Amino acid sequence: AAYQLRRMGHGVTVFEAQPELGGMMRYGIPNYRVPRDKLAAENQRIVEMGVDVKYNTRVGKDVSVEDLEKDFDAIIWAVGCWTGRALPVDGWEGTPNCVTGVAYLKAFNEGRMKVTGKKLICVGGGDTSIDVVSVARRIGTNPAMSGNPEDVVHDDSMDQDESLVAGREPVDATLTSLFTKENMMAAEHEIHDAIHEGITILDGVMPLEVIKGDDGRATGLKVCDCTMDGMTPIPVEGTERVLEADIIVAAIGQGGDMIGLESFDNGRGLMDTTNNYQLKDKPNHFAIGDIVRPHLLTTAIGQAWVAAESVDEFLKGEEIKKRPKVDVHHFDLLEKMHEAGLDPEHFDPNAGDQRGTSSSNYAVHNYEDRSFAEIISSDELFLGHFEVTPRHKRSEDVPSADEVLGHFKERMQGLDEETAQKEADRCMSCGLCFECDNCVIYCPQDAVYRVPKAEATTGRYVATDYSRCIGCHICHDVCPTGYIQMGLGE
Ligand SMILES: Cc1cc2nc3c(=O)[nH]c(=O)nc-3n(C[C@H](O)[C@H](O)[C@H](O)COP(=O)(O)OP(=O)(O)OC[C@H]3O[C@@H](n4cnc5c(N)ncnc54)[C@H](O)[C@@H]3O)c2cc1C
Repeated sequence: AAYQLRRMGHGVTVFEAQPELGGMMRYGIPNYRVPRDKLAAENQRIVEMGVDVKYNTRVGKDVSVEDLEKDFDAIIWAVGCWTGRALPVDGWEGTPNCVTGVAYLKAFNEGRMKVTGKKLICVGGGDTSIDVVSVARRIGTNPAMSGNPEDVVHDDSMDQDESLVAGREPVDATLTSLFTKENMMAAEHEIHDAIHEGITILDGVMPLEVIKGDDGRATGLKVCDCTMDGMTPIPVEGTERVLEADIIVAAIGQGGDMIGLESFDNGRGLMDTTNNYQLKDKPNHFAIGDIVRPHLLTTAIGQAWVAAESVDEFLKGEEIKKRPKVDVHHFDLLEKMHEAGLDPEHFDPNAGDQRGTSSSNYAVHNYEDRSFAEIISSDELFLGHFEVTPRHKRSEDVPSADEVLGHFKERMQGLDEETAQKEADRCMSCGLCFECDNCVIYCPQDAVYRVPKAEATTGRYVATDYSRCIGCHICHDVCPTGYIQMGLGE
């Protein structure tokens, strides 16, 4: 959002509770999935656009909402969901070695957690649970660890000794999921990779109770098989058993940390917004990302772009525009013509009936407003022009169960420059003109012609002489990209 708002020329200050930017990309998703040097470089690029960042500053604690309202014209809440949900079973609350996935991964991503318990159970089934068990398999355990494996998760100032790394041993990591593997939230290839790395996945299994020892710490998790009725698990009688554990992690969902932000809470630890990401009843407040609905990085980034436009309209005192169902960038030919100094002449609405003109300079002839059909379906393309080119897929470095301990190399290998360009070459330019000249060449009437260079701009390469056009559709048929649409020209 800061990036988009800076591009529009607004002054932006980011308040960041953590010492580094990046949110869950930095403190949740492990480094072998998001390389930290790339993330830091991207953040730096945005900061260098002139964004003021206040690090280690939690709004609601270090700065009040009232102060922000005094100092800023608009506020975007992009606070994410950092409070992991507790497992709703007996014995969970207050048990020290029962922790949330968010807290567990944060301790690892801050570099403080070097090793973990010998037997780890994670309850979940989504991306976070897969990350928890994959991290556990990578960091391993060490019998020489002093204290308990959960200590480093609870105590932000604790940093396990680096010497533990040398003597680490494999961990038994088990993931339990209410849903069967086919219906788990995590992506299929993530589940496949986890099994390859030696993780035990118990699917169709529900937790029943945390079993505790005399010292009050969990020694195991009682579970049973289950079937699902929608989102409700139905236990299968007679299948109860106890899985042993040194540490149990719940990765069953997250909510926002609303301390100091209570007035924005919709009652479920999230914030309610309009389609334009403006808070209902608080016009100078906006919210985006996980705090609206926990989802994906791309979702949060896309919402930030929409919210930035809403903020821009709000600050200019304009009405915030209704957004189309499919929210994509519109190519704006008028803007392009303005950039090229080709603005249409002034239109005088009182100058009589002017419909049907194909020459007056107040109108843009051959103007195509594509915004009504953002998606060009494949049947509008002339596929005969395109050779079948298979995708250039990224290769994966997924360690086997024997190799995973201490393996922190990036899992997906990025494409090299040459392959990335080849992959980009597969773009069929759906709905856009790539200046192939087919329409000019095949028009039997010579009605389609190239726009003279002095009047051309992006999106304005060919035009039609309507006095010659007989509406034969040949230009439309030979267009490879579905760019040309037939119409009556008014
Ligand atoms: C373990 C895990 C794995 C994931 N894996 C993937 C994945 O593979 N692919 C994918 O697309 N998505 C994944 N996601 C989801 C993705 O991380 C989120 O959708 C995305 O990060 C949401 O972005 P956000 O900006 O809304 O919130 P966040 O990324 O959570 O950022 C919120 C920011 O606000 C700061 N903050 C919070 N409260 C305050 C406050 N009061 N004052 C000041 N600052 C505050 C935080 O420090 C943080 O920097 C994963 C999430 C998790 C937890």
